Amino acid sequence: MRKIRCPKCDMFVQFEESRIEVGNTLILHCENCGKDFTVRFKSKQEEAPKKSPYGHIIVVENVFCEKQIIPLMEGDNFFGRRCKGTEINAPIDTNDRSMDRKHCIINVKPQPNGEVVYTIRDYDSLVGTFVMNEILQKNERRIISDGEIITLGATTLILKTSED
Ligand SMILES: [Zn+2]
Repeated sequence: MRKIRCPKCDMFVQFEESRIEVGNTLILHCENCGKDFTVRFKSKQEEAPKKSPYGHIIVVENVFCEKQIIPLMEGDNFFGRRCKGTEINAPIDTNDRSMDRKHCIINVKPQPNGEVVYTIRDYDSLVGTFVMNEILQKNERRIISDGEIITLGATTLILKTSED
């Protein structure tokens, strides 16, 4: 099963993967608000996530969401639950209500020697931000490295500093 958000009410609509044909459109029906809408499926090439020289965050699939790859940009990357009306640059598509709409910030800072420093801080979230099962203190900025695990509510994120 795959999920896509209803353009009207923002709830997930599920459908069978087998119904997808690349380049084709599919008519979906939202059980929540009754809207019928069409979705066009992109080819694999179009679907490939944009590569970033600074790596990405993997959002691990769970009951609330599918696996996601979120490329990291230089500067502050604001992570949280995607929600209409909340503008952040690294939104996660999930129904995990324990994840705040603005939950944490991962800062990417290239150094003069070519290294890249990744720093995480909590954004005053309700349940806090955990790195390797340790909660971040208020105003704490912690350096994180490749493979480290971040927990936002019930959702697990993994830092990958390179595309390999
Ligand atoms: Zn709807």
